[in-house]
Amino acid sequence: MARGYFQNIAYHLKSTAVGMGVTIKHMFQTGKGPEKRGIYCYQYPDEGVERAREEVSERHRGIHYLEPSKCIMCLMCAKVCPVQCIVIEGVRLGKDQLLTRFTIDYSKCLFCGLCTEPCPSDCIHHGREWDYSGFSRTTLVKDMLRNRIYTPEVHQQYLAAHEEAKLIEAEFKKVAAAEKAKAAAAAPKPAAAPAPGAKPAAPAPKPDNPSSN
Ligand code: SF4
Ligand code: SF4
Repeated sequence: MARGYFQNIAYHLKSTAVGMGVTIKHMFQTGKGPEKRGIYCYQYPDEGVERAREEVSERHRGIHYLEPSKCIMCLMCAKVCPVQCIVIEGVRLGKDQLLTRFTIDYSKCLFCGLCTEPCPSDCIHHGREWDYSGFSRTTLVKDMLRNRIYTPEVHQQYLAAHEEAKLIEAEFKKVAAAEKAKAAAAAPKPAAAPAPGAKPAAPAPKPDNPSSN
């Protein structure tokens, strides 16, 4: 009992010493960067933004980017998002689709990367960009289709685009239905089935066999 107690104390003293060692090492490295102004601290956003951007890892999960032409509007990314911050709207035109809205709310996004995993078209990705800030929450909603902030004006444009897409969809359905009806009319009709209860037609009489005379 007493032994475990002292072992715990020793373990935590050691881990504290290791952590402080890393801190002290970095403290002495400060001021050794190319600008002699510290390699770990920047007066963000006045300085260091470009340099920090270059230093971001290739695997960094930053602001998303989308390839809209590849998106099949399956909504998998939106469904899997744990905070429901992806909004997708559009219409289907037969096998094609027309995206009218694709936004991500970065005031909610956790940068967990779950949305990029199930995408069957591999069209939503995390970029390396991390510098995305604003003075209000509304400016953190990003229009992924046009790579801009989703402002109320943009929202109005989206509504108009969605209405227009709905009209196109209705027209498309009308044309498809007319073509289907035309094809059905042109197809050969099958023989009419006998009415229920009707007697089957009598077999035709056999012709006399001339050889039996
Ligand atoms: S990174 Fe995570 S939280 Fe952000 S949009 Fe994708 S699934 Fe949602
Ligand atoms: S999972 Fe991919 S294809 Fe499906 S809606 Fe999202 S971005 Fe588009």
